[in-house]
Amino acid sequence: MSFTLAIVGRPNVGKSTLFNRLVGKKLALVDDQPGVTRDLREGEARLGDLRFTVIDSAGLEDATDNSLEGRMRRLTERAVEMADVCLFMIDARVGVTATDEVFAEILRKKSAHVILAANKSEGSAADAGVLEAYGLGLGEPIRLSGEHGEGMNDLYTELVPVF
Ligand code: GDP
Ligand code: MG
Repeated sequence: MSFTLAIVGRPNVGKSTLFNRLVGKKLALVDDQPGVTRDLREGEARLGDLRFTVIDSAGLEDATDNSLEGRMRRLTERAVEMADVCLFMIDARVGVTATDEVFAEILRKKSAHVILAANKSEGSAADAGVLEAYGLGLGEPIRLSGEHGEGMNDLYTELVPVF
C-alpha cells in the first residue's frame, strides 16, 4: 500500500528542503529568496522502511498580499484533495504568523489529516516558536529540522499509522 504526503505552509518555512531530504535528490528548487519553486511538485520519498509519494507545494512565493489568501486556499485545497495526509510546516524560529493562522484554519475546516511540523527547530532559538504552534489547534507539533535531518524519527512515528 502506498500513500501521498503533501507538504504545505507559507513560503520560506523549509518545505522544499524537507522534500529534497525525503526524495534524496534535488527535484525541488531551494532558494534563500522566496520565489523560485512553482505550484506542486511530486517525488518518491523514502523514510526508514516507508515508501510514499510526497508533494512539495509552492507557487505562493510571487503572490501579492491581495492575491495571497485566495491562492493559498486553492493550493491547500488541491493538496488536501491529492494527499492522504498533509504536513503543515511553520518556521519555529519566526513563530506563528497571521499567514500560518490562515493555513491552519483552512486545514481545520477541511478536516484534513494533518501532521504539524515546527521546522528549523535545531537549537534553542526555536523553543518559543514550537510552543506557539500548540495554539494552532492542530495537535502537538513535531520538532523538525529539515536542513539538519533532526526529528525525522518523529515524522516516521507520525506516518506509520497512515499506512
Ligand atoms: P520553502 O519556501 O518553504 O520551500 O523553503 P525552502 O526549503 O526553500 O527553505 C527556505 C530557507 O530556509 C532556505 O534558506 C533553507 O536553507 C532554510 N531552511 C530550510 N530548512 C531549515 C532548517 O531546518 N533549519 C534552518 N535553520 N534553516 C532551514
Ligand atoms: Mg519551496
